[in-house]
Amino acid sequence: MSWQQRLQQGLAQRRAVDGWRQRRVIDQQSTRTLQSGGRRYLHFSSNDYLGLTRHPAVIAGWQQGAALAGAGAGASGHVTGYHQQHADLEAQLADWLGYDRALLFISGFAANQAVIHLLGEKNDRILADKLSHASLLDAASHSPAQLRRFSHNDPENLALRLASPCEGETLVVTEGIFSMDGDSAPLAAVAQQTQQAHGWLLVDDAHGIGVVGDQGRGSCWQQGVKPELLVVTFGKAFGVSGAALLCDADTADYFLQFSRHLIYSTAMPAAQAVALQAALKVIQQGDALRQQLQHNIQHFRCGAASLPWQLMNSTSAIQPLLVGENSDAMALSTRLAEAGCWVSAIRPPTVPPGTARLRITLTAAHRPEDIDVLLEALHDAAG
Ligand SMILES: *Cc1c(COP(=O)(O)O)cnc(C)c1O
Repeated sequence: MSWQQRLQQGLAQRRAVDGWRQRRVIDQQSTRTLQSGGRRYLHFSSNDYLGLTRHPAVIAGWQQGAALAGAGAGASGHVTGYHQQHADLEAQLADWLGYDRALLFISGFAANQAVIHLLGEKNDRILADKLSHASLLDAASHSPAQLRRFSHNDPENLALRLASPCEGETLVVTEGIFSMDGDSAPLAAVAQQTQQAHGWLLVDDAHGIGVVGDQGRGSCWQQGVKPELLVVTFGKAFGVSGAALLCDADTADYFLQFSRHLIYSTAMPAAQAVALQAALKVIQQGDALRQQLQHNIQHFRCGAASLPWQLMNSTSAIQPLLVGENSDAMALSTRLAEAGCWVSAIRPPTVPPGTARLRITLTAAHRPEDIDVLLEALHDAAG
Protein backbone atom coordinates (compact mmCIF):
# COMPACT_ATOMS: atom_id res chain seq x y z
CA MET A 1 0.00 0.00 0.00
CA SER A 2 1.33 3.47 -0.87
CA TRP A 3 1.21 6.49 1.43
CA GLN A 4 -1.59 7.88 -0.71
CA GLN A 5 -3.63 4.69 -0.51
CA ARG A 6 -3.19 4.52 3.22
CA LEU A 7 -4.41 8.08 3.72
CA GLN A 8 -7.34 7.63 1.35
CA GLN A 9 -8.38 4.50 3.17
CA GLY A 10 -8.30 6.30 6.51
CA LEU A 11 -10.40 9.14 5.13
CA ALA A 12 -12.92 6.75 3.58
CA GLN A 13 -13.33 4.94 6.90
CA ARG A 14 -14.02 8.21 8.70
CA ARG A 15 -16.71 9.17 6.19
CA ALA A 16 -18.32 5.73 6.33
CA VAL A 17 -19.11 5.98 10.06
CA ASP A 18 -20.43 9.57 10.03
CA GLY A 19 -17.25 10.45 11.84
CA TRP A 20 -15.94 13.16 9.52
CA ARG A 21 -14.51 16.06 11.49
CA GLN A 22 -14.75 19.52 10.12
CA ARG A 23 -13.44 22.81 11.40
CA ARG A 24 -15.80 25.71 10.95
CA VAL A 25 -14.46 29.19 10.44
CA ILE A 26 -15.69 31.41 13.23
CA ASP A 27 -15.93 34.99 12.02
CA GLN A 28 -16.39 36.55 15.38
CA GLN A 29 -17.22 35.42 18.87
CA SER A 30 -17.81 36.39 22.44
CA THR A 31 -18.32 33.97 25.30
CA ARG A 32 -22.09 34.19 24.74
CA THR A 33 -22.45 34.36 21.00
CA LEU A 34 -20.58 33.52 17.83
CA GLN A 35 -20.89 34.34 14.18
CA SER A 36 -20.15 31.90 11.40
CA GLY A 37 -21.14 31.86 7.73
CA GLY A 38 -22.88 35.20 8.16
CA ARG A 39 -25.17 33.93 10.94
CA ARG A 40 -25.21 34.68 14.62
CA TYR A 41 -25.63 31.90 17.20
CA LEU A 42 -25.83 31.54 20.94
CA HIS A 43 -22.58 29.84 21.87
CA PHE A 44 -22.74 26.64 23.96
CA SER A 45 -19.47 25.04 22.89
CA SER A 46 -16.58 26.86 24.52
CA ASN A 47 -14.59 26.11 27.65
CA ASP A 48 -14.46 29.80 28.50
CA TYR A 49 -16.43 29.10 31.68
CA LEU A 50 -15.94 32.49 33.32
CA GLY A 51 -15.79 34.61 30.19
CA LEU A 52 -12.13 35.54 30.73
CA THR A 53 -11.11 35.34 27.05
CA ARG A 54 -12.80 38.74 26.78
CA HIS A 55 -11.95 40.18 30.19
CA PRO A 56 -10.47 43.69 29.85
CA ALA A 57 -7.81 43.07 32.51
CA VAL A 58 -6.64 39.87 30.80
CA ILE A 59 -6.47 41.56 27.40
CA ALA A 60 -4.66 44.54 28.89
CA GLY A 61 -2.20 42.12 30.53
CA TRP A 62 -1.33 40.62 27.12
CA GLN A 63 -0.95 44.05 25.56
CA GLN A 64 1.15 45.56 28.32
CA GLY A 65 3.17 42.37 28.65
CA ALA A 66 3.97 42.38 24.93
CA ALA A 67 4.93 46.05 24.98
CA LEU A 68 7.24 45.37 27.89
CA ALA A 69 8.71 41.93 27.19
CA GLY A 70 8.16 41.40 23.46
CA ALA A 71 5.89 39.16 21.45
CA GLY A 72 7.78 35.95 22.18
CA ALA A 73 10.10 34.51 24.82
CA GLY A 74 12.92 34.18 22.29
CA ALA A 75 14.32 30.89 23.61
CA SER A 76 13.73 27.87 25.78
CA GLY A 77 13.45 28.61 29.48
CA HIS A 78 16.81 26.88 29.93
CA VAL A 79 18.54 29.36 27.63
CA THR A 80 17.18 32.91 27.93
CA GLY A 81 13.41 32.38 27.68
CA TYR A 82 12.64 32.38 31.41
CA HIS A 83 11.67 35.94 32.33
CA GLN A 84 10.65 37.65 35.54
CA GLN A 85 7.01 37.43 34.39
CA HIS A 86 7.24 33.62 34.23
CA ALA A 87 8.90 33.42 37.62
CA ASP A 88 6.25 35.67 39.16
CA LEU A 89 3.40 33.62 37.72
CA GLU A 90 4.96 30.35 38.91
CA ALA A 91 5.38 31.75 42.43
CA GLN A 92 1.78 33.01 42.49
CA LEU A 93 0.40 29.66 41.32
CA ALA A 94 2.43 27.67 43.83
CA ASP A 95 1.36 29.97 46.66
CA TRP A 96 -2.31 29.91 45.60
CA LEU A 97 -2.51 26.14 45.36
CA GLY A 98 -0.26 25.29 48.30
CA TYR A 99 2.67 23.63 46.53
CA ASP A 100 6.42 24.21 46.71
CA ARG A 101 6.70 24.89 43.03
CA ALA A 102 4.88 25.43 39.75
CA LEU A 103 6.39 24.83 36.30
CA LEU A 104 4.85 26.41 33.22
CA PHE A 105 4.15 24.48 30.02
CA ILE A 106 2.98 25.62 26.61
CA SER A 107 -0.27 23.63 26.85
CA GLY A 108 -2.09 21.08 28.94
CA PHE A 109 -1.37 18.52 26.26
CA ALA A 110 2.36 19.20 26.53
CA ALA A 111 2.30 19.15 30.35
CA ASN A 112 0.58 15.77 30.48
CA GLN A 113 2.91 14.31 27.87
CA ALA A 114 5.90 15.68 29.76
CA VAL A 115 4.88 14.26 33.13
CA ILE A 116 4.11 10.78 31.88
CA HIS A 117 7.02 10.68 29.45
CA LEU A 118 9.51 11.64 32.13
CA LEU A 119 8.23 9.58 35.06
CA GLY A 120 7.18 6.27 33.50
CA GLU A 121 10.06 3.80 33.33
CA LYS A 122 10.34 0.09 32.61
CA ASN A 123 8.72 -2.07 35.33
CA ASP A 124 6.57 0.87 36.49
CA ARG A 125 2.86 0.92 36.00
CA ILE A 126 0.42 3.67 35.16
CA LEU A 127 -3.15 3.13 36.33
CA ALA A 128 -5.39 5.59 34.54
CA ASP A 129 -9.12 6.21 34.71
CA LYS A 130 -10.60 4.75 31.54
CA LEU A 131 -11.99 8.13 30.47
CA SER A 132 -8.77 10.10 30.94
CA HIS A 133 -7.94 12.73 28.31
CA ALA A 134 -6.14 11.66 25.13
CA SER A 135 -3.03 13.59 26.17
CA LEU A 136 -2.69 11.32 29.23
CA LEU A 137 -3.65 8.00 27.64
CA ASP A 138 -1.53 8.58 24.52
CA ALA A 139 1.54 9.35 26.58
CA ALA A 140 0.90 6.38 28.84
CA SER A 141 0.44 3.99 25.94
CA HIS A 142 3.83 5.08 24.53
CA SER A 143 5.54 4.85 27.90
CA PRO A 144 7.82 1.93 28.80
CA ALA A 145 5.69 1.66 31.93
CA GLN A 146 2.73 -0.67 31.76
CA LEU A 147 -0.62 1.04 31.20
CA ARG A 148 -3.72 -0.34 32.90
CA ARG A 149 -7.05 1.48 32.85
CA PHE A 150 -9.42 1.28 35.78
CA SER A 151 -13.20 1.63 35.50
CA HIS A 152 -14.37 5.21 35.36
CA ASN A 153 -14.57 6.85 38.80
CA ASP A 154 -14.38 3.46 40.49
CA PRO A 155 -11.95 3.40 43.44
CA GLU A 156 -12.77 -0.26 44.14
CA ASN A 157 -11.71 -1.25 40.67
CA LEU A 158 -8.57 0.82 41.17
CA ALA A 159 -7.92 -1.02 44.44
CA LEU A 160 -8.19 -4.35 42.62
CA ARG A 161 -5.59 -3.25 40.11
CA LEU A 162 -3.34 -1.84 42.81
CA ALA A 163 -3.46 -5.18 44.62
CA SER A 164 -1.65 -6.99 41.82
CA PRO A 165 2.12 -6.94 42.30
CA CYS A 166 4.41 -4.43 40.56
CA GLU A 167 8.21 -4.33 40.65
CA GLY A 168 8.53 -0.63 39.97
CA GLU A 169 6.69 2.54 40.92
CA THR A 170 2.96 3.21 40.51
CA LEU A 171 1.44 6.34 39.02
CA VAL A 172 -2.32 6.72 39.30
CA VAL A 173 -3.89 9.14 36.83
CA THR A 174 -7.28 10.80 36.90
CA GLU A 175 -9.04 14.11 36.22
CA GLY A 176 -10.81 16.55 38.51
CA ILE A 177 -13.76 17.02 36.16
CA PHE A 178 -13.99 14.82 33.09
CA SER A 179 -13.99 16.68 29.82
CA MET A 180 -16.61 14.70 27.91
CA ASP A 181 -18.91 13.61 30.77
CA GLY A 182 -18.62 16.58 33.11
CA ASP A 183 -18.62 14.40 36.22
CA SER A 184 -16.13 14.69 39.08
CA ALA A 185 -13.65 12.08 40.26
CA PRO A 186 -13.97 10.76 43.83
CA LEU A 187 -10.54 12.18 44.57
CA ALA A 188 -10.37 11.41 48.29
CA ALA A 189 -10.98 7.70 47.70
CA VAL A 190 -8.61 7.58 44.74
CA ALA A 191 -5.90 9.37 46.73
CA GLN A 192 -6.36 7.04 49.68
CA GLN A 193 -6.02 3.90 47.55
CA THR A 194 -2.97 5.36 45.84
CA GLN A 195 -1.31 6.25 49.10
CA GLN A 196 -1.91 2.81 50.59
CA ALA A 197 -0.11 1.32 47.61
CA HIS A 198 2.77 3.82 47.98
CA GLY A 199 2.04 5.24 44.55
CA TRP A 200 1.84 8.81 43.33
CA LEU A 201 -1.31 10.49 42.10
CA LEU A 202 -1.52 12.76 39.05
CA VAL A 203 -4.69 14.83 38.75
CA ASP A 204 -5.42 16.78 35.58
CA ASP A 205 -7.84 19.53 36.64
CA ALA A 206 -8.26 21.24 33.29
CA HIS A 207 -12.00 21.78 33.83
CA GLY A 208 -12.01 22.33 37.60
CA ILE A 209 -9.34 24.98 38.08
CA GLY A 210 -10.83 28.44 38.38
CA VAL A 211 -14.37 27.06 38.47
CA VAL A 212 -14.78 25.12 41.71
CA GLY A 213 -13.27 25.24 45.19
CA ASP A 214 -12.52 28.20 47.43
CA GLN A 215 -11.17 31.08 45.29
CA GLY A 216 -11.47 28.76 42.30
CA ARG A 217 -8.60 26.58 43.49
CA GLY A 218 -10.12 23.60 41.75
CA SER A 219 -11.35 20.07 42.33
CA CYS A 220 -8.50 18.91 44.58
CA TRP A 221 -8.87 21.84 46.94
CA GLN A 222 -12.65 21.36 46.94
CA GLN A 223 -12.28 17.71 47.92
CA GLY A 224 -9.45 18.26 50.40
CA VAL A 225 -6.89 16.28 48.42
CA LYS A 226 -3.32 17.20 47.57
CA PRO A 227 -1.97 14.96 44.82
CA GLU A 228 1.80 14.72 44.35
CA LEU A 229 1.31 15.98 40.80
CA LEU A 230 -1.38 18.48 39.83
CA VAL A 231 -1.74 19.72 36.27
CA VAL A 232 -3.82 22.86 35.74
CA THR A 233 -4.48 24.29 32.31
CA PHE A 234 -5.10 27.86 31.20
CA GLY A 235 -7.12 27.38 28.01
CA LYS A 236 -10.41 26.90 29.83
CA ALA A 237 -11.52 29.01 32.80
CA PHE A 238 -8.33 31.12 32.61
CA GLY A 239 -9.38 32.16 29.12
CA VAL A 240 -5.83 32.14 27.70
CA SER A 241 -3.72 29.01 27.09
CA GLY A 242 -0.80 27.15 28.64
CA ALA A 243 -0.56 24.95 31.71
CA ALA A 244 1.34 24.39 34.93
CA LEU A 245 2.54 21.40 36.90
CA LEU A 246 2.29 21.85 40.67
CA CYS A 247 4.66 19.68 42.71
CA ASP A 248 7.25 19.61 45.46
CA ALA A 249 10.74 21.09 45.11
CA ASP A 250 12.58 17.85 44.27
CA THR A 251 10.06 16.97 41.59
CA ALA A 252 10.33 20.44 40.04
CA ASP A 253 14.13 20.18 40.01
CA TYR A 254 13.93 16.74 38.44
CA PHE A 255 11.73 18.13 35.65
CA LEU A 256 14.07 21.06 35.09
CA GLN A 257 17.01 18.66 34.79
CA PHE A 258 15.41 15.99 32.64
CA SER A 259 12.11 17.01 31.01
CA ARG A 260 12.70 17.27 27.28
CA HIS A 261 9.40 19.11 26.86
CA LEU A 262 10.81 21.94 28.98
CA ILE A 263 14.37 21.90 27.73
CA TYR A 264 13.82 21.62 23.98
CA SER A 265 10.84 23.93 23.53
CA THR A 266 10.46 27.71 23.44
CA ALA A 267 8.98 29.09 26.64
CA MET A 268 5.50 30.63 26.57
CA PRO A 269 5.63 34.35 25.74
CA ALA A 270 6.23 36.49 28.83
CA ALA A 271 3.22 38.56 27.74
CA GLN A 272 1.10 35.46 28.14
CA ALA A 273 2.41 35.03 31.67
CA VAL A 274 1.29 38.61 32.39
CA ALA A 275 -2.17 37.91 30.94
CA LEU A 276 -2.32 34.78 33.11
CA GLN A 277 -1.43 36.75 36.23
CA ALA A 278 -4.33 39.07 35.44
CA ALA A 279 -6.64 36.08 34.88
CA LEU A 280 -5.49 34.57 38.18
CA LYS A 281 -6.48 37.76 40.00
CA VAL A 282 -9.93 37.77 38.40
CA ILE A 283 -10.35 34.11 39.34
CA GLN A 284 -9.28 34.64 42.94
CA GLN A 285 -11.90 37.37 43.26
CA GLY A 286 -14.37 35.59 41.03
CA ASP A 287 -17.03 34.32 43.45
CA ALA A 288 -19.75 36.27 41.64
CA LEU A 289 -18.77 34.73 38.30
CA ARG A 290 -18.72 31.25 39.79
CA GLN A 291 -22.11 31.84 41.38
CA GLN A 292 -23.60 33.02 38.09
CA LEU A 293 -22.22 29.90 36.40
CA GLN A 294 -23.81 27.68 39.08
CA HIS A 295 -27.17 29.42 38.55
CA ASN A 296 -26.91 28.81 34.82
CA ILE A 297 -26.05 25.14 35.33
CA GLN A 298 -29.05 24.63 37.63
CA HIS A 299 -31.34 26.50 35.27
CA PHE A 300 -30.27 24.27 32.38
CA ARG A 301 -30.53 21.00 34.31
CA CYS A 302 -34.01 21.83 35.58
CA GLY A 303 -35.28 22.59 32.10
CA ALA A 304 -33.54 19.62 30.49
CA ALA A 305 -34.71 16.96 32.95
CA SER A 306 -37.76 16.07 30.88
CA LEU A 307 -35.89 15.69 27.58
CA PRO A 308 -35.75 12.22 26.01
CA TRP A 309 -31.94 12.27 25.94
CA GLN A 310 -30.11 11.27 29.07
CA LEU A 311 -28.52 14.07 31.08
CA MET A 312 -25.26 12.91 32.58
CA ASN A 313 -24.33 12.83 36.23
CA SER A 314 -22.71 16.25 36.07
CA THR A 315 -22.97 19.33 38.24
CA SER A 316 -20.23 21.07 36.26
CA ALA A 317 -20.36 23.52 33.37
CA ILE A 318 -20.13 20.53 31.01
CA GLN A 319 -23.69 19.24 30.50
CA PRO A 320 -23.65 16.55 27.81
CA LEU A 321 -26.81 15.05 26.38
CA LEU A 322 -26.31 11.42 25.49
CA VAL A 323 -27.71 10.75 22.02
CA GLY A 324 -26.08 7.46 20.96
CA GLU A 325 -25.64 7.21 17.20
CA ASN A 326 -23.28 9.52 15.35
CA SER A 327 -25.84 10.47 12.72
CA ASP A 328 -28.48 11.32 15.37
CA ALA A 329 -26.04 13.51 17.28
CA MET A 330 -25.09 15.32 14.07
CA ALA A 331 -28.75 15.80 13.13
CA LEU A 332 -29.60 17.23 16.54
CA SER A 333 -26.62 19.58 16.38
CA THR A 334 -27.81 20.80 12.96
CA ARG A 335 -31.36 21.23 14.25
CA LEU A 336 -30.13 23.36 17.14
CA ALA A 337 -28.02 25.45 14.78
CA GLU A 338 -31.14 26.15 12.72
CA ALA A 339 -32.71 27.41 15.94
CA GLY A 340 -29.71 29.67 16.54
CA CYS A 341 -27.81 27.59 19.10
CA TRP A 342 -24.25 26.41 18.47
CA VAL A 343 -23.68 23.06 20.19
CA SER A 344 -21.00 20.61 19.02
CA ALA A 345 -21.66 16.92 18.62
CA ILE A 346 -18.90 14.74 20.07
CA ARG A 347 -18.40 11.34 18.47
CA PRO A 348 -16.09 8.35 18.80
CA PRO A 349 -13.16 7.96 19.12
CA THR A 350 -13.33 11.00 21.44
CA VAL A 351 -16.07 9.15 23.36
CA PRO A 352 -16.82 5.38 23.49
CA PRO A 353 -18.69 3.86 20.50
CA GLY A 354 -22.46 4.27 20.67
CA THR A 355 -22.26 7.23 23.06
CA ALA A 356 -22.21 10.16 20.65
CA ARG A 357 -23.45 13.21 22.46
CA LEU A 358 -24.07 16.90 22.38
CA ARG A 359 -21.50 18.54 24.58
CA ILE A 360 -23.31 21.57 25.95
CA THR A 361 -21.13 23.93 27.95
CA LEU A 362 -22.45 26.76 30.06
CA THR A 363 -20.59 29.86 31.12
CA ALA A 364 -21.01 32.72 33.55
CA ALA A 365 -21.61 34.99 30.56
CA HIS A 366 -24.83 33.27 29.49
CA ARG A 367 -28.05 35.01 30.40
CA PRO A 368 -31.09 33.08 31.64
CA GLU A 369 -32.92 33.89 28.41
CA ASP A 370 -30.05 32.34 26.38
CA ILE A 371 -30.55 29.08 28.22
CA ASP A 372 -34.32 29.31 27.66
CA VAL A 373 -33.71 29.58 23.91
CA LEU A 374 -31.54 26.45 24.03
CA LEU A 375 -34.08 24.53 26.13
CA GLU A 376 -36.92 25.48 23.81
CA ALA A 377 -34.91 24.36 20.79
CA LEU A 378 -34.15 21.04 22.49
CA HIS A 379 -37.79 20.46 23.42
CA ASP A 380 -38.86 21.32 19.85
CA ALA A 381 -36.29 18.88 18.46
CA ALA A 382 -37.58 16.17 20.80
CA GLY A 383 -40.96 16.56 19.07
C1 LIG B 1 -8.27 20.54 27.32
C2 LIG B 1 -7.65 19.44 28.11
C3 LIG B 1 -6.28 19.18 28.06
C4 LIG B 1 -5.39 19.87 27.08
O1 LIG B 1 -5.10 21.15 27.48
P1 LIG B 1 -4.63 22.21 26.38
O2 LIG B 1 -4.08 23.30 27.20
O3 LIG B 1 -5.85 22.56 25.62
O4 LIG B 1 -3.60 21.52 25.54
C5 LIG B 1 -5.77 18.24 28.92
N1 LIG B 1 -6.57 17.55 29.76
C6 LIG B 1 -7.88 17.75 29.80
C7 LIG B 1 -8.71 16.96 30.75
C8 LIG B 1 -8.48 18.68 28.97
O5 LIG B 1 -9.79 18.85 28.97
